[in-house]
Amino acid sequence: MTRFIFITGGVVSSLGKGLATAALGALLQARGYKVRLRKLDPYLNVDPGTMSPTQHGEVFVTDDGAETDLDLGHYERFTGVSARQSDNVTTGRIYSEVIAKERRGDYLGATVQVIPHVTDAIKAFIGSDLGDEDFVLCEIGGTVGDIESLPFLEAIRQFGNDVGPERALFVHATLLPYLPTAGELKTKPTQHSVKELLSVGIQPAILLCRSDRPIPEGERRKIALFCNIRPERVIAALDADTIYQVPINYHQEGFDDQVLAYFGLPADRPPSLDQWHQVVHRLRSPEGEITIGIVGKYTSLIDSYKSLQEALIHGGIANNERVRLEWMDSQIFESDTLVASLEGVNGILVPGGFGERGTAGKIRAAQFARERKVPYFGICFGMQMAVIEAARNLAGLPEAGSTEFGEPRDPVVGLMTEWMRGNEREVRGLGTDLGGTMRLGAYPCDIVPDTMLADIYGQTHISERHRHRYEVNIHYREALETAGLHIVGLSPDGLLPEMVERSDHPWFIGVQFHPELKSRPFAPHPLFTSFIRAAIDQSRLV
Ligand code: GLN
Repeated sequence: MTRFIFITGGVVSSLGKGLATAALGALLQARGYKVRLRKLDPYLNVDPGTMSPTQHGEVFVTDDGAETDLDLGHYERFTGVSARQSDNVTTGRIYSEVIAKERRGDYLGATVQVIPHVTDAIKAFIGSDLGDEDFVLCEIGGTVGDIESLPFLEAIRQFGNDVGPERALFVHATLLPYLPTAGELKTKPTQHSVKELLSVGIQPAILLCRSDRPIPEGERRKIALFCNIRPERVIAALDADTIYQVPINYHQEGFDDQVLAYFGLPADRPPSLDQWHQVVHRLRSPEGEITIGIVGKYTSLIDSYKSLQEALIHGGIANNERVRLEWMDSQIFESDTLVASLEGVNGILVPGGFGERGTAGKIRAAQFARERKVPYFGICFGMQMAVIEAARNLAGLPEAGSTEFGEPRDPVVGLMTEWMRGNEREVRGLGTDLGGTMRLGAYPCDIVPDTMLADIYGQTHISERHRHRYEVNIHYREALETAGLHIVGLSPDGLLPEMVERSDHPWFIGVQFHPELKSRPFAPHPLFTSFIRAAIDQSRLV
């Protein structure tokens, strides 16, 4: 029997609901249950693919090619369950479906309305594409009280009623602010938030209260009394020094016990959290510290590179090293301050990106790494920048560039117009819609044997997740290889360069895909493990 847990948020945004959902998923999994985690986003975009990462954070790409909310990254990292297209939906997607059905005449002349048509579409999504999952955790984006959340709240209320309370649980996450002048944690915003939920017919059974200090017994009882919730189901979610401590804390606070008790399931045997304790231990007592410079365009919001940040930390966990991240706006490198600011780092990473702004700085960062023999990791755009740098400075092609910005004389990086997905040919042109049309999701890649990359992966056939529209032009292979930059990974048809490496450098690698999306704390991605190892070696030299 599949049970549904709905997680809403109140009082303020950025409460860490995504992490809370991921952590609860991990705890239920540690109890032996099969979980699935989903996110319902109330905004009007069809998916976050067209949203600026500095506004909304990273776009997380699934194996099946969906561009999704970054919370799905937390879900995957915490539970190891690969997310799918059917795990994230937005108001935009729901409305597109409803309107397409209306145009086809599927509603047989009915007046199409938010209730029941939109809410039915949301309910159908919640229950779709499921197998033998024990628990489906559905996080509702936004904050209770937002106008745009209403159809989702109405839909989960109905869903809970349809399946009955024995199969549906409502968890509400709130904030208990501490007022220094009063010397107290204040419960009123939480009371109001629960009232707001009640006004749409939802009585939460568990409250998850974010707070920077333990909740005194008196406050807990007060919240329980006013919000109609048992005191033991008012769970404190205290700030943690690392996100990987969160499942451990939740368990200590009794969160998973209370969820099981709600459903009448036994909670006598505690979950095994050894692997979480190990990860936290490694994070807290590393052997040393190295610094990685991340040269990108969206450095003003760290969430723009959420998976990247986590993957680098995973690389540190694998090597027992603390990884300090220095976020550097690539634009500063267009002036001569470059050398000074890159001198102290032990590794340089140029992540994914779009558009011309900041590219000159990224190219200079790649050049610096190459010349100074500092480990260089180019991801997607970062690989394209390394290719342009080698073409311009070593292959005698000073006007090499990407057609993503202008019409260079030597388009070493160009628009991909067609490629194979399995046995299907995908075709795109200049006039194609921007949303959802890139080369997205998992694609296979063959690695040339006896190369550094084959060694790092320990195999020559791999699959990685992609999100790009431009590609390195295979016709420049010879020129690039003469310049020392070897194309060592290709799509199986041999047409799309997927990986490059330099043999005259301790660690200089570029990949066209996003390995950070598949890294997990308990299974750090081999590229990140190897990159951090190289950075540690570099740090011993200086
Ligand atoms: N803008 C580049 C492209 O579309 C790189 C994309 C990326 O880094 N994700 O190919």
